[in-house]
Amino acid sequence: MDDTRPGVGSPVHVRDLLVTPRQWTLWRQRPRLVVFCLVVEAVAVATTVLAAGWVQPGLRDGLVTLALAALGVTQAELGRQVERVRRRVNGTPHINMTSVWTFAGVLLLPPAMVAVLVAILYAHLALRSWYRLQRVPAFRSVINGSVVVLTCYTARLVLALFGVDGIGDALARGWLGVGAITATVAAYFVANALLILGALNMTNHSVRELFGGWADNLVELATLCLGTLTALAVATQPLLVVMVVPPLLVLHRGVLVKQLEVAATKDEKTGLFNTLGWHNLATNELARAERTHQTTGVLMVDLDHFKQVNDTYGHLAGDLALKAVADTITAQVRSYDSVGRFGGEEFVVLLPGVGQTQVVAVAERIRRAVGELTVPIDFTDDGRVIRDLSVSIGVAMYPTAGTVVDRLLHAADTALYSAKNTGRNRVVSF
Ligand code: GH3
Ligand code: MG
Ligand code: MG
Repeated sequence: MDDTRPGVGSPVHVRDLLVTPRQWTLWRQRPRLVVFCLVVEAVAVATTVLAAGWVQPGLRDGLVTLALAALGVTQAELGRQVERVRRRVNGTPHINMTSVWTFAGVLLLPPAMVAVLVAILYAHLALRSWYRLQRVPAFRSVINGSVVVLTCYTARLVLALFGVDGIGDALARGWLGVGAITATVAAYFVANALLILGALNMTNHSVRELFGGWADNLVELATLCLGTLTALAVATQPLLVVMVVPPLLVLHRGVLVKQLEVAATKDEKTGLFNTLGWHNLATNELARAERTHQTTGVLMVDLDHFKQVNDTYGHLAGDLALKAVADTITAQVRSYDSVGRFGGEEFVVLLPGVGQTQVVAVAERIRRAVGELTVPIDFTDDGRVIRDLSVSIGVAMYPTAGTVVDRLLHAADTALYSAKNTGRNRVVSF
């Protein structure tokens, strides 16, 4: 898990934490998460102790561990800039380029040395975060490292089930070796996902967030493939291993580009599409509607007297209300209807493949749901809530009110204007 939300609060010193375990951030997490962390960490330590007694590492193992650790630290330092932007843009939890080195370790090292490698890489990441303003709580680094250790052991176990002992052996075993390594990649991928799923179940992340999109999974897979190539290089011509670093940095940058693309079409405050994102989507949907001869509805939703809400409760509370209304609208429509925020306190909804009666019914449902909304102002302790919100909604239908997005928006806006002029808190069709 690479869920590195920054720690907040006054400066904390590592020394203080070591002598006063009672101050650990871990104890302030949900009980289920605390138990999960303690169990995973205990199992990671116990299996490492067992593994250490099982295979004694040699000098070569020590050198390979140091080389992989040095490469991992170098890559993390070179990718620092990209990582910083990436974190700010999007916190997709589990993409973590360090698996290049840890997976290479699985194929090259005795298990206990893999744990040493993981410890070095994660200690470096943690230390780096301690010297920045946005600190990662120590418990996160420890649980992240423990999850990776267990993932590595699971993958190593699968390799052993094939009777293959590392990459050198796999190279000598022809197709069996190829099959064993492929299965080891799969095992690493699945074990990591399942362990993170366990952790996320204890927090408030959703499974959807965990698995991300296909693009995220492809990146994880590409990382493991590069790990295999790293191991191959080390086993055959170690100097060539530096060739893995440039593609890795490019891959890292590629992830950032994808995330920036998503961020550019999203509204920060509500998580809905922004104007650009919604417009692009609506344009595509209308092209589809034209091909399939289906009608499509557009709603323009505007909060009534929202200025008063801000004046009464403050702008920050107003933001909470906006978010709550955004969530309410989303909850009232199907997953393939597109909801966007058109700046300010105005929202747009595209409902493909539905007729006028249904579109008006959806608009009415949204109007009623907003009317029933109570929004707790959770940053004040006085239990105040915002209620009596209402929206006016303008409805326009493709193709009768227009055949291009801007024309439909104009029609919906005209209907909205008329709803405002006839008393607000109502739905008007163009
Ligand atoms: P009407 O019923 O005519 O729509 O009245 P209104 O007060 O909602 O409309 P008006 O367009 O006059 O004002 C919109 C208000 O929305 C003004 C602005 O303070 C508020 N607003 C716009 N964007 C945001 C935002 O991001 N957060 C908060 N809290 N308020 C916002
Ligand atoms: Mg308004
Ligand atoms: Mg407005």
